[in-house]
Amino acid sequence: MAKKVLIIGTGLGGLATALRLSSRGFEVEMVEKHHQAGGRLNQIKQDGFTFDTGPSFFSMSYEFDELFEDCGLNNPLQMNELDPVYSVYFSDRKEPFLIYKDLKKLAKEFEGIEDNFEEKAKAYLKQAGELFHDTEYVIVKRNYDSILQYITSLIKVPLKHTPLLVRSIWQELNRRFDSQEVKVIFSLVAFFLGDTPFQTPAVYSLLNYTELQHDGYYNIQGGMYKITETIVALLKERGVKFHYDTEIKSFEKTNDKISGFIDQNDKKWTADLYVSNSDAASFRGLVLNRKKFQEKKLDKMHWTLAPFTIYLGVQGKIDKLHHHNYFLGENFEAYASDIFKTSVSPKKPYYYVNASSQSNPNAAPENCENLFILCPVPDLRFKPDWSDREELADNIIKDLSERVEFDLKANTLTRKILDPIDWMEKFNLYKGSGLGLAHGLNQVAALRPKNKDEEFKNLYYVGASTTPGTGLPIVVIGSKLVTERIENDHGIPHKTVRSGLQRV
Ligand SMILES: Cc1cc2nc3c(=O)[nH]c(=O)nc-3n(C[C@H](O)[C@H](O)[C@H](O)COP(=O)(O)OP(=O)(O)OC[C@H]3O[C@@H](n4cnc5c(N)ncnc54)[C@H](O)[C@@H]3O)c2cc1C
Repeated sequence: MAKKVLIIGTGLGGLATALRLSSRGFEVEMVEKHHQAGGRLNQIKQDGFTFDTGPSFFSMSYEFDELFEDCGLNNPLQMNELDPVYSVYFSDRKEPFLIYKDLKKLAKEFEGIEDNFEEKAKAYLKQAGELFHDTEYVIVKRNYDSILQYITSLIKVPLKHTPLLVRSIWQELNRRFDSQEVKVIFSLVAFFLGDTPFQTPAVYSLLNYTELQHDGYYNIQGGMYKITETIVALLKERGVKFHYDTEIKSFEKTNDKISGFIDQNDKKWTADLYVSNSDAASFRGLVLNRKKFQEKKLDKMHWTLAPFTIYLGVQGKIDKLHHHNYFLGENFEAYASDIFKTSVSPKKPYYYVNASSQSNPNAAPENCENLFILCPVPDLRFKPDWSDREELADNIIKDLSERVEFDLKANTLTRKILDPIDWMEKFNLYKGSGLGLAHGLNQVAALRPKNKDEEFKNLYYVGASTTPGTGLPIVVIGSKLVTERIENDHGIPHKTVRSGLQRV
């Protein structure tokens, strides 16, 4: 008989793990707190508009190819490369900087702003690229059984990269570029990791390499939720059962094994093996009652910024908006270093806007735009009260209207807000932290909550707060790592071919 695996949570990590395990002959069943699959990679439909809830683009697209290939499938997702990759609006400049992968074209954007931009950018990206390739397999794409193993791996990384461990991204950019504009734009990758460039180690300059040289950025034809829908459809074809509105609250054990998980209605869910796609740190504390992960300890960990998101359906087309847009305010250093640890909403917020209706017309009625606005804000440890949410949303919408010269308020057909409390309650994101645990050097690799439980031999983890970390392609890598763990510990029932396609 095939071994049965219960996966708790249908985020991308859970779905990708289900796809890999079902390809290997495991019987898979999934339980999910929300009313539909996807976790943060979700969808909101309101008044004729369709919005992707969270992720709007991704790098390292080849990780999706690898996922499907590993399961004997051709990648069914139509991934569109973005060009320009994004645009950045500064408050003192009417026109945005368009960020191109082509460095010659990009250099034109910085003419008169940064001397010898192309030369400097090439040198910066060369270093970042070398670091990417020197660590990809040695550090990132692997499981660790001990800290010693991690140290042994670190020793294999060429010594020339060591300064990047001790500097922040901002310090590294300061050494390489002169203009504030280039430094700020290149440092935005830190926010993709959910942190500020002043706290993010310079090793993550490798993200500049992935966005500008290695692979670029992509979105999905038909909207990002197609990723969730496609994987769910494949899993259903394989007989995987989904149970929504089911939240795991506690567990039962027999010796060193989980014998069942208990949901909010006291129903017991049993399997041979269990994979939690719930946050790997807070699940250990709140569901397993581990001392090391009690609230006081969790609060001391370094969490990524919380999202404040607005979904706005508007009448009319907004010519000045590109597909992916960053709107920055003044005093970048002061803003980024202070704003995330206070209990007040930002007065002049920095935010990101995605208009997916520009490439996916079905997401909005004719001659309308569906705007997704994301403003990083303090998590609930620092700002537990969000009664000012309407005011903050109005403030952002007013600022955006002025900058794109379009009266958004007067043309609003529908509006929805998710504040950090909503994000926490919907998907069990710890204190509303958007991307899970941060990626400081004390919270990565062997120092991040493991994908294999410390106590129970049949419990594993996948998702943003376990290894290797957060972001769509990274949790896909995480699904490969946890599958390897399970294969090593329990063997593979049998390798199968699915959907009539050859296993490659
Ligand atoms: C606003 C926002 C924008 C983002 N933008 C991008 C982007 O552009 N590009 C990118 O690459 N990444 C982006 N990310 C990050 C990306 O969304 C995440 O890294 C990724 O989706 C995390 O997937 P996961 O596997 O950890 O699962 P999650 O998305 O966390 O899903 C976990 C699932 O488990 C369920 N669950 C939790 N606890 C329980 C329980 N006890 N019982 C039952 N079910 C439970 C939850 O309801 C949820 O559905 C963004 C994130 C946010 C919040």
